[in-house]
Order: sequence, then structure tokens, then C-alpha cells
Amino acid sequence: MVSPAANKPYEAEFLEQLKQQIPKAERAIWLDGVHLTIAEDGALVSAPSEPQLEVLRSRWETPILNIVRGITDDMDIEVRFGCSTARKKAVAKAEPDTLAGVSLRPGFTFDSFITGPSNKLAYAAALSVSENPGSAYNPFFIHGSVGLGKTHLLHAIAHRLLEQGYKKIIVASCATFTNEFIAALTSQKIDRFRDRYRSADALLIDDIQFLSEKERTQEEFFHTFNDIYNREQQLVLTSDAPPKAIEGLSERLVSRFRLGLVVQLEAPDLETRVAIINRKLLSREISLDPAVVEQIALRINDNVRELEGAVLRVESMVRHEGIEATAENVNAALNEIFGQETKRIDLGTIEEQVCEYFSVTPEQLRSSRRTRSIVLPRQISMYLCRLLTGCSLGEIGKHFGGRDHTTVMHSIDKIRTAIGTDSTLRRDLESIESKLLR
Ligand code: ADP
Ligand code: MG
Repeated sequence: MVSPAANKPYEAEFLEQLKQQIPKAERAIWLDGVHLTIAEDGALVSAPSEPQLEVLRSRWETPILNIVRGITDDMDIEVRFGCSTARKKAVAKAEPDTLAGVSLRPGFTFDSFITGPSNKLAYAAALSVSENPGSAYNPFFIHGSVGLGKTHLLHAIAHRLLEQGYKKIIVASCATFTNEFIAALTSQKIDRFRDRYRSADALLIDDIQFLSEKERTQEEFFHTFNDIYNREQQLVLTSDAPPKAIEGLSERLVSRFRLGLVVQLEAPDLETRVAIINRKLLSREISLDPAVVEQIALRINDNVRELEGAVLRVESMVRHEGIEATAENVNAALNEIFGQETKRIDLGTIEEQVCEYFSVTPEQLRSSRRTRSIVLPRQISMYLCRLLTGCSLGEIGKHFGGRDHTTVMHSIDKIRTAIGTDSTLRRDLESIESKLLR
């Protein structure tokens, strides 16, 4: 362990460089209480709370890695993230020495995982794996794109296994497995490495796609896999793609990975996204107007991590900056985070998409006709305009045939109320929204 005094210059340099990456107004919030500790086995970036750590990770993981590599002049240094309060607790409890590489993320449990059509199969299978390890589904393979809960489910299984008294549970990222393997080879400690991995009661490896093209590590993992599998102990793997779509993975590993159950996590639908946000708000003890919750859910539709980032951003806006969470302010705050990637959406583009979706013309929307086939698209247009642009009620009314602001407000309320009970409407909104954001 490098002495605390020796760490100081690293930490100061780290904080200085990280500061440059964070928008000025947000520095005080996200850098508060952040520390960097360099030890022989790698670097630890710590923050006083889990949510703060989550934001640091989700928004600045890559710059953080680059900064740490730069200042330590070590491209292969392992960078871990930890919560400083959780760490104290863990030390007091003497963390189980069976956990390799990463420590378990305390919040990643089954209880905190919100289910919906996109993930309920994966969730149910993960539960049954943790209740009947080695027999229900072995290996259990979860795939899906980034930010959809793969790591969360993997850790949830590990938590549940530990609760049930299983001792040798190894949770590691594929990168950790690879690095430890290479380190064991170079320091001639391969026997110890093998003993440890192959005697596990359960082996859970995150992001297995990183085995791609690494032939020696694949060979090693193949034998590790077989040992554990033949002893009927549980294997859990996650990946950004299904086994046969991982490029540069040996055929024999592909077929091993498909022996058990392969499930996919999909992007959550609108309702699930709203539920995830609401759960998050509840645990953070904040309340937001349901329309604002929906606005966030509509805007961020394919990544739960970003959804959480958005909630935390809005929270810091309200708590630290004293800005009210109106549709407009929230939109501006989200633009700050997601702005670059998102297309600019204006009244015209919304009108265009709605017209295409319902096969009506802009002239009909702007007309005074009151048949339902025109009224609904018109109301939906106004609703989306209010949610997704910074336009005032007056401006929206003017665009849609010179209606006054009370008419616009009435239309928006209509849709807002109907969303609660009308699932067809929710689907319509979601389809239009996803086209707008594409
Ligand atoms: P992945 O490993 O698939 O990239 P993570 O498991 O790291 O994604 O999930 C990203 C973030 O979203 C985590 O903070 C996780 O807790 C949260 N999350 C993902 N899915 C859900 C869900 N269904 N319910 C609650 N939180 C979720
Ligand atoms: Mg992950």
C-alpha cells in the first residue's frame, strides 16, 4: 500500500484533471468528497454516496480511466470504484475473501430491480438460478445492450447466493479474469489462479464478450468453465451479444455458453421506465410532477443508466441549484447531459411525425375540424410539443391554427389523464417518440 502522503500528489492531479471534464455548475456536487487511492493492486476512486458514484461512473468513467492511467503512467492499472461509507462498513464486516476483482454493488439486488415485459423473463430465470444454483439453468447467460441491467442481475444473483450461505462466490469482470490470468502467468502463480477460480461454488463473469480474440485466455476459461460445470456448480455470464454473435470466440466456447439458458434484456417500455424513475425518486425522497417523470421517461428510452443519470441531474438541479422542475427547466437540464446526441426537436418535426403516424395532414391538424380522427392527433401533437420543446402554450397554440393557450392546456390535460388508463395511447406516444428521437 502506498502511504497516504505519497497518494496526495496523485489525488490532487486527478481531481484537477477531472474537474476540467465536468461542467462548471456541477463540479461542486459531483466532486464533493471524491478521493483517489493508489495501491499496489490498483487504483480506487471513492465517493461518499452510491448515487454520486453512479453518476461519476455513468458520465465520466472513460475520462476517469484515462486520467488515472495518465498520472500513474500505467496503461494496465486496474481502476475500481467504491463508496467510501460502504467501504468502512465492509471493512468492519470483513468482506468475504472469495469475491474476486469487484466487490458487490450493494444496491444491485433483486428487490431494487423493476420488472416489465422487457426483462421479466431474465429476472425470473435469475431468481431461480440463485435459488437452485448448478441445477436450474447452467450456464445462465444474460445478454443485452448497454445500461439494461445485466450487471445488476449478475450481482443480484451473487447477493442471494451469499445470503443463502454459499461461500466461494466469485464475481469478476472478464477484464479482471484476463488480467489476473496474465499476471499469474508472468509471476508463475498459475496454480494459485486455477485453484481459486476452479474451486468456486459459483462463478459469475460480467461482460464475457471481452474474451473476443484473446486465444490464451479463452483456452484458460474453457477449462475453468468445464471444471465448474462438471462439478455442477453455477456459471453466470453476461455479454452485450448472444453467444454466437460474439466475434472471435472459439466454437467450443460458443457451444458451452449455449448449454444452459440464454436470455435477453430488452429496452424497457414506457410504463417500466416510469416505474423505474418513480422507484428512484422514492428512494431519493424527492417528488416530481408526473408529467415531468413522463417527460424524462419519454426522452430517455433505451438505457436505464441514463435514465438514472437524468433523475440525479434533475435532483441536483432542484436540491442544489434551487431551480424548479418545470418541463422547460428539465428539458434544458437534460439537453446539457444528452444534448449533443439528441436531434433538435421542434414543432414542425413533431407535427410531421404525428401526421405520418395517423395519416392526417398538417392542414387538418391546424383546421377547426373536430372529428375524433383529427382531434386525437392534434391533442397528441400539442402534448408532445409541450413535453419535448421549450415552447410556451401560446406558441404551440399559434402553430396549430392560432388556438389560444387555454385550448392547448385543455388538450394537454386530456392526453395526460388518458395516459393513465389507455394503453393504446401509450403505445402510440411511444412509437411517435421513438421516431422523433431516432
Ligand atoms: P448493464 O450491465 O446492462 O450495462 P447495469 O446493470 O449496470 O447495466 O444497469 C445500469 C443501471 O441501471 C444500474 O444502476 C442499474 O441498477 C439500473 N437498472 C437497470 N435495469 C434496472 C431495472 N429493471 N430496475 C431498476 N434499476 C435498473
Ligand atoms: Mg454491465
